[in-house]
Order: sequence, then C-alpha cells, then structure tokens
Amino acid sequence: MFDNLSEKLDKALHVLKGHGQITEINVAETTKEVRRALLDADVNFRIAKEFTNRVKEKALGQNVLTTLQPGQLMVKIVKDELTELMGGETEGIDLSGDPSIILMSGLQGSGKTTFSGKLANFLKTKKSKKPLLVACDVYRPAAIDQLHIVGEQIGVEVYSDRENSDPIAIAKAGVAHAKAGGYNVVIIDTAGRLAVDEKMMDEISNIHSAIKPQETLFVVDSMTGQDAVNTAKAFNDVLNFDGVILTKLDGDTRGGAAISIKSVVDKPIKFIGTGEKMEAIDVFHPSRMADRILG
Ligand code: GDP
Repeated sequence: MFDNLSEKLDKALHVLKGHGQITEINVAETTKEVRRALLDADVNFRIAKEFTNRVKEKALGQNVLTTLQPGQLMVKIVKDELTELMGGETEGIDLSGDPSIILMSGLQGSGKTTFSGKLANFLKTKKSKKPLLVACDVYRPAAIDQLHIVGEQIGVEVYSDRENSDPIAIAKAGVAHAKAGGYNVVIIDTAGRLAVDEKMMDEISNIHSAIKPQETLFVVDSMTGQDAVNTAKAFNDVLNFDGVILTKLDGDTRGGAAISIKSVVDKPIKFIGTGEKMEAIDVFHPSRMADRILG
C-alpha cells in the first residue's frame, strides 16, 4: 500500500536527516521534494502546494533550524499535516436508527457490492448487529446474484425482488422487511454506471429522498487517483453523502485519492477495503495511515 509514496517521502526527508547543519535552504529543498512526492502520488496540485507551504511554515516556526534532531522534527511535522489532510479524527458510522439505513453509492466496479458484504459482516461479527442486505441494482441480474453469493458467504440475509424494476420500491420494501424481521441495520446496494451520468444521479438521489438513510456512503476505487476525487465531488454535489469508502487500497501504490479526497469534498473516509475477501475491511484511522505512509 502506497509503497511509491512512502519511498519518495523517505528519500525527501532523508536528505534533511543527513545534514549536520540545517539551513533555510535545506528546509526549502526538503519541502520541494515532499511536494514532488505528493504530485507523483497523484495528489491535486493545489493541495500539494498548500500542504508543503504549511509544512515549511511550521518547520521554520518551530525552529527546526536550531533543534538537535531536525530530521525527526520534520518527520513529525509532515506526519501531523498528513493526518490532518486525511481527516484528523477517526469517524464512525451512525447506527442509531431502528433500523439504521445505510445507502451505498458509487460507480460500477468501484467495489460497492463487495463492500456492502464486508460492512454487513463487520457489523454482524464486531458490533453484534443483525444486518439485512438489499439488492437495488435492477439493470444487472448478475449484480443481484453477486449480492446473494456474498450474503450466503457471511450468513446475512439478502432482500431482492427480481420482478420489480423500480429501485425505490425495492429499497422501501427492503426497509419494511427489515422492520418486520427485527433487523437493526439495512445496507442498500445500488446500481452504478461506468461514468457519472444524469440518470444514475437522479436515481440514487431519488432513493436517498425516499428512504432517508442515516448514512450515505460513497464507494470509490482508490487506484483511480484524481478521477476518484472528481467522482467523489460529483456524487457529493448531488447526494451530500456522509462518508467515503476507499476500496482496493491493497493495489494502490500511490495514495493520491486517500490524501486528497477529504479536503476536496470535506467528508471523512470512514472505511477502507484492502482485498477481495470479506474480512478485508478496516476502519480508517488518519494518524495510523500517516504512520504507515511515513514508515
Ligand atoms: P461494484 O460494481 O461497485 O458492486 O463492484 P464489485 O463489488 O463487484 O467489485 C468489483 C471488483 O473489485 C471485484 O472483482 C471485487 O472482487 C474487487 N474488489 C472490491 N473491493 C476490493 C478491494 O478492497 N481490494 C481488491 N483487491 N479488490 C476489490
């Protein structure tokens, strides 16, 4: 995960660690290298620039020039700023509803169905919840089959209605089914398309208005870098979602989406997907992620 970025940041900070005497020029050089590392990781130019300006300001403000271990202080400053950039605090999901309704949104292939299963499994095994999965993709019968397979794998019931072509009606019926059956969480998997289009946005926004979920989560493939950030913006403009799920971090060597997404949409990353298996889900902790990135 983020190997390229870690390596480049390590190199950037290494220069400063090696210097006996630290000068303003060294600090400037280091921050320039940090900026380059972020740009290579596919972090948005403006975010990278603002980030390094803050690091530079802090470094000079905290007398990095006179401290005994300037390298360590720089690592700490970069780590703190990275943590802040990725959201600062860990944010959970709202499970206060009865049942709590969680609506999944995102493009096709982003990992929505897989994540719906992972989240149901997480809530069942770690939070002692009784979740129900609802299949609302009325365009691809294979998507309904996939959710049923996932449900069987984790021992969670899946509500679907192959005769119905109205996703809003299915979502509502799913919630009613959950209420009647004593389920306390309903996870609604919706259809995604290959690109953002008006029809999909209308559909998800109509489902959203009809069922008023406690949590609307936007699922995105972290490997798509800046595209992930742009898609997040488009979905957030329409849905005003509550949190981001970054999937496929196991294959992401760059990390640009993880670093940029919070400051673009101002919504926290809540969970990450780190593999195809149902157990490959983690709560997102900004500071732990910053630790991992900086090695
Ligand atoms: P959907 O179209 O948004 O429902 O996406 P799917 O859940 O069908 O996922 C698309 C593909 O990505 C599938 O082959 C999944 O196994 C894979 N996938 C989903 N999440 C992850 C992840 O965190 N890591 C990896 N490596 N693959 C994932």
